[in-house]
Amino acid sequence: MDGVESKICPECGKEFFRTPEDKIQSWKVRKYCCKECSDKHNRHLKGRVLRICENCGKEYMARDFLTSTGCYQRFCTVECQHEAARKRKQAFQERC
Ligand SMILES: [Zn+2]
Ligand SMILES: [Zn+2]
Repeated sequence: MDGVESKICPECGKEFFRTPEDKIQSWKVRKYCCKECSDKHNRHLKGRVLRICENCGKEYMARDFLTSTGCYQRFCTVECQHEAARKRKQAFQERC
């Protein structure tokens, strides 16, 4: 018999355990400790769009609204943003 299976909920960080109601298949795909957490996660993803990073060309989830600087998010990470700015020999606070 396999031992106790547990996972860490990526939303709240709590450890949760497999219950007899969790079939192997559903347990495999289960990510969150409770419905509230998975709902919360889905809400995070709302207002996000898949974009291509202008620096590394990777797909990433970008905020679908203007940032505080009045620009759309154009890079997957701050690192990429900085790298792109460096490439253009510009200051870190790049304007679009
Ligand atoms: Zn949770
Ligand atoms: Zn990137």
